[in-house]
Amino acid sequence: MVDWKPRTELGKEVMEGKVKDIDEIFERGVKIKEPEIVDILLPDLGKEIIFIGGSPGKGGGIKRTSTRRTARMHRSGRRFNINACVAVGRPGYIGIGKASGTEHTVAIEKATQHAKLNIIPIRRGCGSWECGCKEHHSIPMKISGKSGALKLDLLPAPKGIGLCIGEEMKKIMRLAGISDLWSKMFGDTRTRFSYTLALFDAFKNLNKVKIEEPNEV
Ligand SMILES: [Zn+2]
Repeated sequence: MVDWKPRTELGKEVMEGKVKDIDEIFERGVKIKEPEIVDILLPDLGKEIIFIGGSPGKGGGIKRTSTRRTARMHRSGRRFNINACVAVGRPGYIGIGKASGTEHTVAIEKATQHAKLNIIPIRRGCGSWECGCKEHHSIPMKISGKSGALKLDLLPAPKGIGLCIGEEMKKIMRLAGISDLWSKMFGDTRTRFSYTLALFDAFKNLNKVKIEEPNEV
């Protein structure tokens, strides 16, 4: 059991076992303000660090790093900040969080807690007319997401196609339980963090769409 004293009404309800299913919270539209709520209701949550850092490697190309270091000037010299991005999830759910700290492990831990607070349900399905299997290996329909000048389209793909999306984004899809998907990216593609946000935005948009066909789970 989690050693935790709830500070919110929702937290107390979860602690007392009045709320047993996280979907109840999404249906009520209540904001989750304590990560322990997610720990209790989704105990099998997986976690992935999304590599948002990168420095030019030897012989060209970019070396991916898990965190991104930013510097700012201070009277006594340069001060560094470590930025981390973490995805938490399990089939049907994803949360993305970002945080900064003076140390790598601190930034990752903070980002993980933020990711839990941002968790949303992921609608899965088989929206591919070429497949039509009605299982939940892909998404039910085409959807778009945005972050700044970056636009990302996610498209349903037939079974066996795999994840046609950037390496870091595949981590998120696997957590969410999606195995086949096509994607198209437009505009500013410089940072993997905005890529991550555009992806998250697309799933949020998908949750707003009414779907009448029985091809989602
Ligand atoms: Zn299918």
